[in-house]
Amino acid sequence: MQAAGKRDRWDSSSEDDEDKPAKSKRISKEKKPLPTTVTDDRATTLPFHNPLLQGCRSVYETYDRISRVSEGTYGIVWKAKDLATDQIVALKQIKFESVADQQEGFPVTALREINVLLALSHESIVNVKEMVVGDGVDKVFMVMEFFEMDLKDGISRFDGALAQSELKNIMQQILAGTHHMHSKWYLHRDLKTSNILVHRSGRIALADFGLARRFQEPRQALTQLVVTLWYRAPELLFGESCYGPAVDMWSVGCIFGELISKDAVLQGQGELDQIDQIFSLVGVPNETNWPLFESLPNAGLFRWKPKKAQELLLPKKFPIASPVSANQAFLDGNGYNLLSRLLTLDPDQRVSALEALEHPYFSQGVKPQTPRFFSTSS
Ligand code: ADP
Repeated sequence: MQAAGKRDRWDSSSEDDEDKPAKSKRISKEKKPLPTTVTDDRATTLPFHNPLLQGCRSVYETYDRISRVSEGTYGIVWKAKDLATDQIVALKQIKFESVADQQEGFPVTALREINVLLALSHESIVNVKEMVVGDGVDKVFMVMEFFEMDLKDGISRFDGALAQSELKNIMQQILAGTHHMHSKWYLHRDLKTSNILVHRSGRIALADFGLARRFQEPRQALTQLVVTLWYRAPELLFGESCYGPAVDMWSVGCIFGELISKDAVLQGQGELDQIDQIFSLVGVPNETNWPLFESLPNAGLFRWKPKKAQELLLPKKFPIASPVSANQAFLDGNGYNLLSRLLTLDPDQRVSALEALEHPYFSQGVKPQTPRFFSTSS
């Protein structure tokens, strides 16, 4: 029966081992149709009523599954084809972890991500086209435009260093998406190279808004359990709860450094080690570089010896005009200045996304140019 066949292609429970993600997050194998197992009619089997999903189209009637791209924390991502237009899309299947998720209708992280993405509309932010449903409580999909890879994979594909012009263009796109998000009063709270997607055209978009949330002025307390450790801003590490967009800007600084050296800049083995590495890179807080540091909840827990300017690692790791290895991108004086303005300890002195976009790094010297992620091996 044709309808049952269509349903079956979206039944993730009947996967063979080949189709499951192995070590790497993304999978490239294309998938063949699977044997038929699911025959229920969606109208009679939907056991819950969720107003959010009312009027959503059926995944079986609208999309043909091609392959499983990745299995993330909050759901499986599929590559699929729009049956009407032949357009290739990505479908993120919402993962219903617990019975509570099913009873309450929807996992809160997924709900948050959908709400944020529907509120944002920018070419450097992944675009949600629609929600579609399957024939069970746990078959809900977010339909997005398809991106070939994430930026972490993108960087590793380059044999040598990124050209200065490409580096500028990538940073401009990341900053433009970040500025849009902040201007709409949203924080991402988990920016990192694996949460930034790369389109075949060279377009770059922020993704994975599962930890995003609204902020306001004056600030209110938010949870501190955010941002992957290596990209986590120093104010979060010292217990600040009334934080703002500057936490994302620190992460953007880490991403900029990673694009230059093709390796994560700060790779702490725990929170204390992360703090140590940050201080070795850019210095220890004092009354000038971070006047309000002492008022942070965890500021008094440990003491750090002040560092002399010549001891700091930032200028050594990112020397102007003389890359430390063949893999490292060239950085001019403006580029170094922008990097240090992003990796600034004090969130009040750290550059904003808008200020960064207006930085001379982008208007002087080599002009930004679309990166050639796909011109060689793929
Ligand atoms: P999670 O929140 O579960 O980690 P993500 O949104 O980060 O989910 O998605 C997991 C992975 O799926 C990403 O790292 C990326 O490789 C892939 N992915 C996500 N969205 C898309 C998309 N629109 N196009 C192609 N791949 C995507």
